[in-house]
Amino acid sequence: MMKIKLNNGLEMPQLGLGVWQSGNGEEVINAIHWALDAGYRHVDTAKIYKNEEAVGKALATANVPREEIWLTTKIWNDDIRAGRTTAALDESLQRLGVTYVDLILLHWPVDGYQQAWKELEAALKAGKVKAIGLSNFMDEHLQDILEVATVKPAVNQIEYHPYLVQAEAISACDEHNIAITAWSPLMQGKFLEEPLFATIAEKYNKTAAQVVLRWCLQNDIIVIPKSTNKGRIEENGDLFDFELSEEDMVAIDELERGHHFGPDPHDFDF
Ligand code: NAD
Repeated sequence: MMKIKLNNGLEMPQLGLGVWQSGNGEEVINAIHWALDAGYRHVDTAKIYKNEEAVGKALATANVPREEIWLTTKIWNDDIRAGRTTAALDESLQRLGVTYVDLILLHWPVDGYQQAWKELEAALKAGKVKAIGLSNFMDEHLQDILEVATVKPAVNQIEYHPYLVQAEAISACDEHNIAITAWSPLMQGKFLEEPLFATIAEKYNKTAAQVVLRWCLQNDIIVIPKSTNKGRIEENGDLFDFELSEEDMVAIDELERGHHFGPDPHDFDF
């Protein structure tokens, strides 16, 4: 498993399982167990995914110890706005049935994020989390956080894939050694409609999904592809026995078109 060294010294597994829209029962429990069997050591959930209970159950019944699994969750927007980040984190820990999470993120840059950041810093001190970070924070939001921060964000989780590389947000993060996690790295499944990936995949005897995810890894991006299908989970985890050539990396780079599959952090209403 490749790891990314964070600006707080911790090493975060570069591949994780995303569990948005994966249910709050057997479906997500099986997915997590299959992922662990396939070598994943990282699970990405959030309060708003409404499956922290099942994610916790999956970890508790896994044959991999809790401390070997990187667990990320997120503070939802309503809690940030209401100034109840600390309470929301405590509730997440309770639903997950864990004493700490490895990473807690502010899910979106909504009103109150500077105060929420101070609460995350306190949670870090209290040992409830090992690392604190952001999600969907663009350059200007990040600057607001840095103004009040005594601890820099370790990670920023943003939409990232060949159609959207968010160069400005990434270069702001690079300046502070903030690692990037890609959400929707598989373009929410739409990668299948882009013929270039299949063409490149053939050369390496890999699949189109593996090519897209490998391109992310070679750009030093953490990926959290979502699937609840055993075969696909295994396929998405089988990324470490090949390397894309510079030429193929550049060909994929050229697909960039500023296309969001999800909401744009500059213009969202939830
Ligand atoms: P994704 O890009 O991971 O795509 C998932 C979809 O791709 C699946 O539903 C499936 O239809 C398809 N797929 C997966 N593997 C495949 C394969 N090998 N072959 C063919 N099709 C395949 O999309 P996502 O779920 O939006 O993003 C991944 C994770 O990122 C989420 O589960 C969640 O954890 C996180 N996320 C975070 C935010 C945020 O605001 N921070 C937003 C969206 C998602």
